Amino acid sequence: MKPYLYFEGLCELVKEIKGDETVHVGIRPYGFHAGNTIALVVYPYLLCKYLEKSGKIAKLNFVVSINDWEQDVLDGPNIKEYPFNVFPKNTSIYYIKDEKGCCESVADHWQPIIERNMTRLKESFKDISFRFVRNSTLINHVFCQNLLLQTLKNPREQLEILKANSNKKTLEDPVQYAGIICPECHRAHGKSQALENGNVFWKCNECSCEKEGELKQFQYWWYHKPMLLARLEIFNVDITLSGGDHFSDGDFGIRKAYINKYSPSTKEPYMLFTPTVLSADGQKMSKSRNNTEFANISKFIKAVDGYMGNEIILTEDLIEKNVDEKNYNYIL
Ligand SMILES: [Zn+2]
Ligand SMILES: [Zn+2]
Repeated sequence: MKPYLYFEGLCELVKEIKGDETVHVGIRPYGFHAGNTIALVVYPYLLCKYLEKSGKIAKLNFVVSINDWEQDVLDGPNIKEYPFNVFPKNTSIYYIKDEKGCCESVADHWQPIIERNMTRLKESFKDISFRFVRNSTLINHVFCQNLLLQTLKNPREQLEILKANSNKKTLEDPVQYAGIICPECHRAHGKSQALENGNVFWKCNECSCEKEGELKQFQYWWYHKPMLLARLEIFNVDITLSGGDHFSDGDFGIRKAYINKYSPSTKEPYMLFTPTVLSADGQKMSKSRNNTEFANISKFIKAVDGYMGNEIILTEDLIEKNVDEKNYNYIL
């Protein structure tokens, strides 16, 4: 296998596949800016378009991860310089309240917006399907439970995988790729321990909570790279669709190494990477809440269709102004 990069990769991938594969794509459920939509709407659209152009029927089955187990905000010694030495600033996305106040949580607010905008692709390609899955529901799968335990027990093993497959610099500390979220104060800071008896133990640094219980009794944060392996296995994924920043992290090699180390029988997926979306000032369209813009999706699709580069600038004409996000919608 080789990585499938940007538009050229998309065209090559279309030749390799039948059109009825399972495609995995994920999103942190707190926004739907242009940086997200390239992987969630634009590339799915183009995959289907070029499948059909080549005479195949687009029947792709999209598994969309709603990443509520990821860190609320990344923290660490230097998150840019040492991206594998990071942990949650406060909590997991699961516990972030809806800032707009109209829903219980930020995931409850954004998931319907994500679902509505993705499922609209069915208007153009009626045989495709979507399944939206919150990370926090994966705990019901034994494979997820075991890999999560491994991640709690032995994070250094995973640091070695990351080091061996990436050009990024690493520190020997702190190294943690999953943790319990305090059941009392919902903060991520404390000691998470996998015990010999199969239970887990939590001691909070922020409040007085100390608790032992079964794995399924707790909520977690979990670094997306090991967590992806759980999803590849559980959903029998054929194709991963990810932003170009994952490719520069080394994810092509990292994912293969995770499979080899923890689950050699898991299918190695085709990995398609999208260009990275930059805002007009040349900065990466951020995962933070400033420096994000909504795209005019139909114009954005036209701009990305045939675009060969690895980075694309969201120029003024591609931006959708004055968006009422709850009603954000597009016409193809
Ligand atoms: Zn809301
Ligand atoms: Zn606590």
